[in-house]
Amino acid sequence: MLTNDQLAQWDRDNFFHPSTHLAEFARGNVAQRIIKTAEGCHITDRDGTRLLDAFAGLYCVNVGYGRQEIAEAIADQARELAYYHAYVGHGTEASITLSKMILDRAPKGMSKVYFGLSGSDANETNVKLIWYYNNILGRPRKKKIISRWRGYHGSGLVTGSLTGLELFHKKFDLPLAQVIHTEAPYYFRRPKDDMTEAQFTAHLVAELEALIEREGADTIAAFIGEPVLGTGGIVPPPEGYWPAIQKVLRKHDILLVADEVVTGFGRLGTMFGSDHYGIEPDLITIAKGLTSAYAPLSGSIVGDRMWKVLEQGTDENGPIGHGWTYSAHPVGAAAGVANLKLLDDLNLVQNAGDVGNYLNAQMRAALAEHPHVGEVRGEGMLCAVELVRDRDTRKFFDPSEKVGPRIASALLGHGVIARAMPQGDILGFAPPFCLTRAQADEVVEKTAKSISEALS
Ligand code: PMP
Repeated sequence: MLTNDQLAQWDRDNFFHPSTHLAEFARGNVAQRIIKTAEGCHITDRDGTRLLDAFAGLYCVNVGYGRQEIAEAIADQARELAYYHAYVGHGTEASITLSKMILDRAPKGMSKVYFGLSGSDANETNVKLIWYYNNILGRPRKKKIISRWRGYHGSGLVTGSLTGLELFHKKFDLPLAQVIHTEAPYYFRRPKDDMTEAQFTAHLVAELEALIEREGADTIAAFIGEPVLGTGGIVPPPEGYWPAIQKVLRKHDILLVADEVVTGFGRLGTMFGSDHYGIEPDLITIAKGLTSAYAPLSGSIVGDRMWKVLEQGTDENGPIGHGWTYSAHPVGAAAGVANLKLLDDLNLVQNAGDVGNYLNAQMRAALAEHPHVGEVRGEGMLCAVELVRDRDTRKFFDPSEKVGPRIASALLGHGVIARAMPQGDILGFAPPFCLTRAQADEVVEKTAKSISEALS
């Protein structure tokens, strides 16, 4: 049996950690936490420390940890058929069943599912399908994709470009030229204090119209957005945002991609965020909640309007030149089937709505008057607390003070994992859907205590 010290040494010597400050890690200033087991909403590390995971991994372990039904489905599938590809018409019972289960749950007007492995590769697929679509339609110039600042859509070349966070562009020669950004629908950071939410929405619509005008609608293929901004700060949209944006896109024949990697399969208390906000997308990105991260699996759900053109395209050009070895991997698909069954059997989407909204209400009640809390916001099982130096003027802390990370670290000391979001002093919460009201109370109470401790 390896000792913890031995593992930690191997970790330092061999392991290139994603999204980690490499130099600080080498200097020993990034805590190494080696996770060993997990059950429900709790994870336990090799030192025996048990933590309430109020971020569900990376907002992905939606049904909670330790679900034997999913583990058994994975093991059964691996024993019976660990792999076969999905090229030229091949499939497995698991992948075909899962595609039907997804379409049965998807918003209306969706036609087919293309399977990938991660949210990033699913968005990569989306962009390729959008370009293919416009080429088939004889519109070779209509290729640019509009994304929002603070949107998160992955960290590949095109998807890292779509992501509207500086950290993901800086020193990587991104964004690529075909990707353009528009203002984030972030009411708390609105440009003028006296704007109402409705006025802010009108302002965002005008900004989008101006961008389309500047670039030329004949050069813009699609708009991509998360129903609720996630990694960019957990920000629900301002009043009337989605219908107003959708109207502009329709007018200019611009496709709409709803990136539901975080919101898909129940996080807002509805099966999809598109249902929640009345979005009618042409493409939907799914990942995380599809398998609750028991196995890597993602998908692009293609709407009817695009599907007809894609089919027509292959009639003229032969098979579609796009495929991953692991598209529709049967082990991932088996995990997906078992996961979606669990969501139904345990009524977990309803619980995400009920307990998530309770968590938000309690957080608001506990912190709304705190002098350094600018805003508590969220929807369903997504909640954010934004810290400010001055509540009345919405003046922010200097990033060098690391207020968000300091509070997250204090909270960790009390046994609760929240995420210090990457841009701004924002504490993010996205617990598993099986969170209980008592656990929500614990999260709120310890958050309030940690803010006071870190800022005293
Ligand atoms: N889209 C959204 C909305 C996401 O939140 C993420 C991941 N956090 C991705 C895409 C990328 O997914 P992955 O990390 O699986 O590539």
